[in-house]
Amino acid sequence: MGALRRLLSQLAVLASLGLCACNNPGVTVLHDPLYRASPHVSTITATGVDSKDGIDSVSITVTIGTLTACNNGGFTPSLIPCRTAAFQFGRECIFSHEKGPAVCRFPLRLGDRSLVTYTATARNSRGSTAKTTPITYAAGAPLTQATIHVVFFDITVPWETARPVWWHTDLPLGQTAPDKIDVGFFPDADWGTNYQGFTDGLQVIALGSFFNDTNPFSNFYRFWKNEFNLWAGPAGGNGEDSCVRSLSGAASTVSGAVDGKAIVHQAAFRDCSDIALGGLGTSQSTLTDAAWVFTHESGHFLHGLGDEYQGGGNGNVSDPANTWTSQSACQTAAPGLGLTASQCAQIGTTGFWHVDDGGVTTMRDRDLASDWRTASGLAVGRRMSKCAGGACY
Ligand SMILES: [Zn+2]
Repeated sequence: MGALRRLLSQLAVLASLGLCACNNPGVTVLHDPLYRASPHVSTITATGVDSKDGIDSVSITVTIGTLTACNNGGFTPSLIPCRTAAFQFGRECIFSHEKGPAVCRFPLRLGDRSLVTYTATARNSRGSTAKTTPITYAAGAPLTQATIHVVFFDITVPWETARPVWWHTDLPLGQTAPDKIDVGFFPDADWGTNYQGFTDGLQVIALGSFFNDTNPFSNFYRFWKNEFNLWAGPAGGNGEDSCVRSLSGAASTVSGAVDGKAIVHQAAFRDCSDIALGGLGTSQSTLTDAAWVFTHESGHFLHGLGDEYQGGGNGNVSDPANTWTSQSACQTAAPGLGLTASQCAQIGTTGFWHVDDGGVTTMRDRDLASDWRTASGLAVGRRMSKCAGGACY
């Protein structure tokens, strides 16, 4: 298309928008703590940004109810929670053309088995608004039983659901929710009865991987955070050195509700993961680079990527492959992916090959400046595109 035609089409787009070169406000929102299994004060913080026109208002709307199993009283209770006794309220913070971040905080005192959904809206001085999609999270002690109906009898049975930490829901709850990559975090046996220690560890990993880190390794997941749901599971995980890991009991049952699973542990041992589209891995929350390690492991258990260093698991089930078993296979595949065949390099002396563009890559380099590169970047990008298109796997 010629430059003139391009200009005309851009003008046509501007005209259809009312020829307004104006700026729309932005808004972000997050609750803190992400999940805690005892009564606590949870603070929802929404930030409106419009450095040109200024923010006049930031509001937070909240729906709170009691977490229960769906189909409570039917034959099979659900692993994904429902809500009863819901009521809605909100808070509006007023500003006067605030051109810096306009921060609105809403503290909520939450009891056991709470289920909270919130949205935030920012309005600028010209009346334009931005709104977040609804996020649902659980708080307080989890559900421990459900009622099932057998013939003429209602029987109470032990029952646990997945506890949403960051769950994209439509309102009202119970309608079909958009498909996301569902990540489940499960406590390792090394927390003993200290479930809150596990939830604090989960918070370190989740905040650093999806929300508030500023290093390159987390750029991708922070940008795509709305394609993920994060869940906490009940006790029953166990990881050990030498890549031993398992989920049993309620943890195993609840794991059926998620795609990828991470056992969060505090003791030091080398982390491992299935190389699978929805596998099980381990992640140590007490490392200073815990979020990087989780992100690397998720490359294995969410995207099926192979390690790009010698001494890991170099096979893959990713789309596209990020490792090949010969130089010629790598060189054949690379041009079709927009990659450079001459950058095909052997991974040490493993007999596996990858495309090495010289940058630090999350499937090889334990470095906060790493990112998803070459074929691994394409594979993670394709997964996100599928998710945004409505079917993650
Ligand atoms: Zn690895």
